[in-house]
Amino acid sequence: QLARVAVHESLGAFLCVDEDVALAQAGAADAWRARGIGGAAHRLLGVPIAHKDIFVTRDFPSTAGSKMLEGYRSPFDATVVSRLSAAGAVTLGKLNCDEFAMGGSNENSAWFPARNPWDTGRITGGSSGGSAAAVAARLVPGATGTDTGGSVRQPASFCGITGIKPTYGRCSRYGMIAFASSLDQAGPMARSALDCAHLLQAMSGFDPRDATSAEQAVPDFVAQTTALREGATADRPLAGLRIGLPKEFFGDGVAADVLAATRAALAELEKLGATLVDVSLPRTELSIPVYYIIAPAEASSNLSRFDGVRYGHRAEQYKDLSEMYSKSRSEGFGAEVKRRIMIGAYVLSHGYYDAYYLQAQKLRRMIADDFQAAFTQCDLIAGPVAPTVARPLGSQSDPVAEYLADIFTLPASLAGLPGISVPAGSGEAGLPVGLQLIGNYWREGALLHAGHAFQ
Ligand code: GLN
Repeated sequence: QLARVAVHESLGAFLCVDEDVALAQAGAADAWRARGIGGAAHRLLGVPIAHKDIFVTRDFPSTAGSKMLEGYRSPFDATVVSRLSAAGAVTLGKLNCDEFAMGGSNENSAWFPARNPWDTGRITGGSSGGSAAAVAARLVPGATGTDTGGSVRQPASFCGITGIKPTYGRCSRYGMIAFASSLDQAGPMARSALDCAHLLQAMSGFDPRDATSAEQAVPDFVAQTTALREGATADRPLAGLRIGLPKEFFGDGVAADVLAATRAALAELEKLGATLVDVSLPRTELSIPVYYIIAPAEASSNLSRFDGVRYGHRAEQYKDLSEMYSKSRSEGFGAEVKRRIMIGAYVLSHGYYDAYYLQAQKLRRMIADDFQAAFTQCDLIAGPVAPTVARPLGSQSDPVAEYLADIFTLPASLAGLPGISVPAGSGEAGLPVGLQLIGNYWREGALLHAGHAFQ
């Protein structure tokens, strides 16, 4: 696997690989196996994985895709990292991402963009683009990602793999470098829903170190993924499942090729026994301004810790403390991060707080309420993940146009709901198209089940 990573270095999926660490962990896994350690608690024994560089790790540097954290090494592992290690997984290294997870193309990485294995002239999507590329190119069978506004689902869709964003609170955020704390969630990315179930099983659960992690029992995701639904049969495994199609997800904004692939996938779900029902999420469009107020607001606050004093980049020359702060930050952060800090500081400032931030919070609640209304008519919601397939690298210079492409992933993020992207087929130039399924709170198992049946 390490050799395969080396051969495909030009994909830019990995930011760092450490053979010594990986081989030592693999040796430890072998020793566990020799001692008869295994079973469900060690379900990932010897399985090679890699982590998005937004998770801090003791054994590897952690940069969050930013110059600000060049050379930084954490004294501890993120909870998700230590849980996957405890389940026996072997970590090969760290994966490329947009700087501080801000972006949807991986082009905002301070180092280099990851390349889509299906066409290396195209983006992987983002921000977990390195994770998606690594799994799609078979460099690792599974990887971690994080999803604040779509960063697990959208790159999974663009690279033809499966990725699930769990319910907010399902996975601990401890040791996940914070972007927008009320939205950030870790999620697994793998070849199939079943592989995602195994990873999610190991990643999930209450963590006293994260005040927003939920004291919610973790079900057996693998059993839920493969179980036969009540009243279902082997060839109609989705019998009795009502899938809601929000009309706002199937409008003009979706490219014809993506729409066609999505519709074909829905027809397939029907064949598997599901019933399609029309629903509405009337505030879908508003999720863009709401998210792009709340996420930058939280980011501007979270990123204030990078002041050049305790860790991270520090300017070499400065005349006083204030210049040290400003020079360190202007040198360390990239353009998109600075843009978000400015937006965030603006919407939180006195006089604008009520007009923007407070308003966005109220709308966020209404977006969540819309989902609850829809879930009275259906069990799961389906739609596209992104309006188009992966675009060519370097083809988008307008940040607002880039934000608009998040329209189908932001609503579930704002509501804190789980969402999965499963490969649905192909669009323009044979590029992958994902199908998004959204479930009610804590219903990851239902998403994985439907994804598994579909695959
Ligand atoms: N594309 C969105 C953004 O740039 C989502 C990013 C994410 O989920 N981390 O904010």
